[in-house]
Amino acid sequence: MNPLDLVAADELFSDEELAIRDTVRRFCADRIRPNLATWFEQGDLPARELAVELGAIGVLGMHLQGYGCAGTNAVAYGLACHELEAADSGVRSLVSVQGSLAMYAIYAYGSEEQKNEWLPQMAAGTKIGCFGLTEPDFGSNPAGMRTTAKRDGSDWVLNGSKMWITNGSIADVAIVWARTDEGIRGFLVPTSSRGFTANTVHGKLSLRASITSELVFEDLRLPADALLPRSKGLSSPLACLNEARFGIVFGALGAGRDCLEAAISYASTREVFDKPLSGYQLTQAKLAEMALELGKGMLLAERIGRLKDNGTLKPEHVSMGKLNNVRAALQIAREARTILGANGITLEYPVMRHANNLESVLTYEGTSEVHLLVIGQALTGVSAFR
Ligand code: FAD
Repeated sequence: MNPLDLVAADELFSDEELAIRDTVRRFCADRIRPNLATWFEQGDLPARELAVELGAIGVLGMHLQGYGCAGTNAVAYGLACHELEAADSGVRSLVSVQGSLAMYAIYAYGSEEQKNEWLPQMAAGTKIGCFGLTEPDFGSNPAGMRTTAKRDGSDWVLNGSKMWITNGSIADVAIVWARTDEGIRGFLVPTSSRGFTANTVHGKLSLRASITSELVFEDLRLPADALLPRSKGLSSPLACLNEARFGIVFGALGAGRDCLEAAISYASTREVFDKPLSGYQLTQAKLAEMALELGKGMLLAERIGRLKDNGTLKPEHVSMGKLNNVRAALQIAREARTILGANGITLEYPVMRHANNLESVLTYEGTSEVHLLVIGQALTGVSAFR
């Protein structure tokens, strides 16, 4: 039995899905893992270089069809996220934001011209996108956003700010959601535009191998064709978020798996009171609970992936998966940390890095509380958001 897959979830995946997963796993082993401690410590990562390499293995916008995208199914995309996040949630965030937020927004709401201009370059990683929805005062409730886009002749003039924007300072294009006379609409904003500023957020204790930024728009003038013509209302950015959350359903468990692997390995070599830590019942109970949660989470992820691939996925399903699997991964990471004792707090082992990262994952793409409210609404028919 594979101790990291006690429920034999691997048997649920096709050869093609597993081949894609293995390609990403090898890439992470060769290119990402050896550098993670350094990137995390420095609070940075060579995102531009990495994006081109990630583009070359086909994971950027991989579940989209055409325009240079790989066109895989959703499950394969989930497994790729699982491997990327087993390395680091920050690297998975780079891929999620590029593919599921920025590229998906263009794919779903853009004109043919916009798709042809941006998607092939973004799939190749030669152009980087970010997605600006959250504002300093409006995270869980983006409907309150203050950023505006006002018509001036055929142009649009953008004013306002966005906060906590992944890839913001390195992006070539920002998908910005703004209030207009016709409700919330999406805009393609080249970051070279006059009036655009990105300020990197420093001092993060989580997702340090990821770039997070504030975006500021001051009388930023855009041509008429910067509007994503098919975007309409808040449901458009929320649909993008649902795409990215789907990746997290699989992804977070990757971090959990990496922690379980580290804990098993450590417990089998570390001697306490004259015998290996793995031989103690308390340790085995911890490992068993971790394996159980990982296994259950993988079964849930696979189910949600199949629902997505057969076109019957509902937002409530994604909420269940995101809520459960991030919570499970965080619990696994914290428990693994206890098994590693003092060593567990260092960057020599991955567990505390994953645990810290997962605190962000618990908050972004809908907090746990928001997902509980989504599920509660599905159960009762009553919205308890306000
Ligand atoms: P708040 O909305 O202020 O919530 C604070 C607390 O109140 C939370 O516990 C929340 O669950 C709770 N709460 C909220 N509403 C209710 C309610 N009705 N009932 C009970 N409790 C409630 N955003 C982007 O647009 N693009 C990005 O690329 C992006 N990247 C991010 C990267 C990182 C590292 C982080 C940390 C965040 C990122 N975000 C991004 C922002 C993220 O989506 C928001 O942080 C998230 O939506 C929560 O908003 P908030 O932080 O303002 O918290």
